[in-house]
Amino acid sequence: MFCPKCHLLLYPKDGKMVCRKCGYETERTEGHVVVEEHREKEISVLSGEEEALPKTNVTCPKCGNNEAYWILRQTRSADEPETRIYTCTKCGHRWREY
Ligand SMILES: [Zn+2]
Ligand SMILES: [Zn+2]
Repeated sequence: MFCPKCHLLLYPKDGKMVCRKCGYETERTEGHVVVEEHREKEISVLSGEEEALPKTNVTCPKCGNNEAYWILRQTRSADEPETRIYTCTKCGHRWREY
């Protein structure tokens, strides 16, 4: 966080971020930091998943390779069937089967 007036680093004070030079105050933005950490965790979980994914013989629509990882993804609506998502082992292209 930087002061918009003098572009100096803001310091935490009484739960706010304060500029020591001009006294500018703003709310702390810890919420953003939490969101970003959460996103990083999701990515690491996903990449860990892919190593253990089962493979199947299916033709990649992009490169024609006939082997792909697959995963079942439950849709949010209970009325809809599960979607099978394929990831090509060769080019990494992803597509889904309805
Ligand atoms: Zn300032
Ligand atoms: Zn492919």
